[in-house]
Amino acid sequence: MKKLTLALAILVLLPGLAQAQRLPRTVVPNHYELMLTPDFKTDTFTGEEVIHVSVTEATSQITLNAAEIAFQKVVVESQGQEQKAEVALDEKAEQATFKVAKRLSPGPAKIRISYQGKLNGDLRGFYLGNSNGQKYAGSQMEASDSRRAFPGFDEPWMKSTFDISFVVDEGLSAFSNGPQISDTKGPKGKHTVRFGTTPKMSTYLVALTVGNFECLKDEFDGIPLRVCAAPDKVQYGKYALEATKAALGYFNKYFEYKYPFGKLDQIAIADFGAGAMENTGAIIYRETALLLDPGTASTNQQRRVANVIAHEIGHMWFGDLVTMRWWEDIWLNEGFATFIASKSVESWKPEWNVGVQEAAASGQPIGIDSLKATRQIRQQATTPMEIDSLFDGIAYGKTAAVLRMVESYIGEDTMRKGIAQYMKDHAYGNTVAADFFDALSNASGKDVAAVMRSYVEQFGVPLIDVQAVCQGKTTEITLKQQRFFADPRLLGSAPDQVWTVPVCFGDEKSNRELPGPQCVLLSSTEKKATIEGCQDVAFGNWDGRGYYLTNYPTEAQRKKLRAGIAKRDATERLVLLRDEWYLVRTGRRAISDYLALVAAVAPAERELRVVEEYTERLDYLAEEIVTPGDLPTFRSWVGKLLKPVGDELGWQPKAGETVPQMELRATVLGTLGGVAEDADTLARAGELARKYLDDRSALHPTLAGVAVNLAAKEGDAALYERYFKTYLETKVPEESRTFMEALARFEKPELRARSLDLVLSPDIRNQDTARFLGGIGNSSGAQEVTWKFVQDKYKDILARLPKDNHGALLPAAGAGFCDEKLRDEFEKFAASVDTVLRPRAMALTRERIGNCLELKKLQGVELAQFLAKQKTGLAQASK
Ligand SMILES: [Zn+2]
Repeated sequence: MKKLTLALAILVLLPGLAQAQRLPRTVVPNHYELMLTPDFKTDTFTGEEVIHVSVTEATSQITLNAAEIAFQKVVVESQGQEQKAEVALDEKAEQATFKVAKRLSPGPAKIRISYQGKLNGDLRGFYLGNSNGQKYAGSQMEASDSRRAFPGFDEPWMKSTFDISFVVDEGLSAFSNGPQISDTKGPKGKHTVRFGTTPKMSTYLVALTVGNFECLKDEFDGIPLRVCAAPDKVQYGKYALEATKAALGYFNKYFEYKYPFGKLDQIAIADFGAGAMENTGAIIYRETALLLDPGTASTNQQRRVANVIAHEIGHMWFGDLVTMRWWEDIWLNEGFATFIASKSVESWKPEWNVGVQEAAASGQPIGIDSLKATRQIRQQATTPMEIDSLFDGIAYGKTAAVLRMVESYIGEDTMRKGIAQYMKDHAYGNTVAADFFDALSNASGKDVAAVMRSYVEQFGVPLIDVQAVCQGKTTEITLKQQRFFADPRLLGSAPDQVWTVPVCFGDEKSNRELPGPQCVLLSSTEKKATIEGCQDVAFGNWDGRGYYLTNYPTEAQRKKLRAGIAKRDATERLVLLRDEWYLVRTGRRAISDYLALVAAVAPAERELRVVEEYTERLDYLAEEIVTPGDLPTFRSWVGKLLKPVGDELGWQPKAGETVPQMELRATVLGTLGGVAEDADTLARAGELARKYLDDRSALHPTLAGVAVNLAAKEGDAALYERYFKTYLETKVPEESRTFMEALARFEKPELRARSLDLVLSPDIRNQDTARFLGGIGNSSGAQEVTWKFVQDKYKDILARLPKDNHGALLPAAGAGFCDEKLRDEFEKFAASVDTVLRPRAMALTRERIGNCLELKKLQGVELAQFLAKQKTGLAQASK
């Protein structure tokens, strides 16, 4: 599954009390026959199902999963005898037990079930959607919702084959995992669509979709491909077909295993909770994750769509062909798909410079991992809520970061060979984490399992002190590690925690005397080692591939690093800036030193991801840390720093620019308008956004988003109206998303109020409620008014969110607070609601608020002094 980085999705949380919800192993499934008849008049469906099972121990009862299912008749057939079964439901455990009078002997048996289900509005199971006023049914089974579509053995290790058919109204199409083998008239004004037998697969990968869809067709290496969508949007599926062919080509080679599922359908539907879902041979997407118009989409949107497609197609091998035995290893599924997707996209579009983006992505999970309430990657989970909570930034982002570190340690091709072998050894089966570790250890001859285990089974991120002394032709390295906490009060509080970390060194790119990285395997709190070459400031995170933070303890080292920063590779500049920021948070660096470093880097820095690394921090400082009195000085300081860069780049792309250069323009202008509030930039953005509304060629696609967003900042009611109309009327999915996001950014109080009202209107789909509300909350100066809205309309907002997400709304709403008054209100309100708030999400939010307040205390005076000096400087400069 591809999660969205929604305000709500980031903060999914942990467990209530684990209940024994696993199925007994006395009866296991082999094959399902499933015939579904949806009825859009009553929003229900009927199911006729036969499950072919093996009885492994004599028993008179069979327990399987079922939720929101009304059983009409259950018959069990074994050894030529049919017995009607009594059905006992356990709603809490989402299980049904079929009891028969005469014990079933070990051996094959069939369970025949007639039932009725509900096409629910919760975006899970087999559910109801609405596209252009017409109803359709879509599905989302992962993690534990296939039980809402059909009674079954809903555990990933119980793989089976499936024969799926639908009886549907004339004019509607049906989609599922197997190849369509027939479409015949009847019964009674309907038609019957049958799909061929699937390979062995888990229940969470079943796809069911019925509605008015059309498809674009293509083919790759003998595999029929289709991209399907609502008829008025299907034309925007061409890009997806190209991205799909590129991904299939890459994966066929990478895994040394040809795409195994015969055909590949990808279906965009209007209502979808996640980004996309890797159902075997029939991937379902939200429209904006699959469809786009390459003529008007920015490269950022193109990259995002290509990335989601590659992620899902990567799952066809890693997840679908080889599946984790149980959900505690879902990290391996999601982390691997994240890791492999960017490799595939990089091979398709090398000009996108994905390598630096990966270094930036590897740093993302540190935000959550530097908190005490983070979790370990591999975590036990039994109930559906516990299982759902495992789909978070730790499973996706941190696992991918650890895989990148291991890959750089053992080498890209060795890693690939280990994975290809793993694929062959476990095809159509299930695995546990150790199978994967062993495959990599065997391929490399290195103890990869020790590295992986130390990261997968422990919380947090290590902070590594690096000291180096040149001794002629070699360098003596001293490494020390400890768990990093963003909270200075906690730093040093986990002395026993030790990781097995490959700490890799290179030299400056401009002075490459060494062929590749030299890695020291650190597996104790302290270690001395010798590396080749003379390096006084050995940089301890080669190519930004290590998942750890580095600290250079002496000022002499830091001085040399700063002096040589421009000569380092972009990934290393990025990592140095990132790590210094985290040290600011703990008080180990002064904020003035950090800002001086940014000031030293910014004038010459032209690498998009490096610029993003510090502009995001500047934005955070402006929104949360700088006092209102100092804000104008801070804004001027940022303006002075970036204005020359912005002037050089301008609003007009130049011939021969690379994609990252074009995107850099958007980031720099976005910061000049958004953080510095530079008047010229805002005026120009306003003008260009208005032109763009009339004529899409008025702005280069990479600049449309930033101009539209900046124009909203000072935008009036007339502009709001035009955005709103475009959002509602456009058929281009990414355009509707651009304008929806921009609607959240209007700052005039009456327009902000209008956007808040919009959160609860039918014009914002339920799938977008959290994203849109989060967008308003994160726009400049909107925290208090959004918080008031959340309190006033709490129940109304919940009514629009999937039930599973109810406990995440409040922790997401408070996560950005950095104010004692808001913190107290948050606690008071949280204590007053009757929702079960997700405990870990609440712990993370409390910690974030606490840390932000601590940062103000720790660096507030230093920051004020720094800005006072700048004020003098700025005043003199303007004389
Ligand atoms: Zn996924």
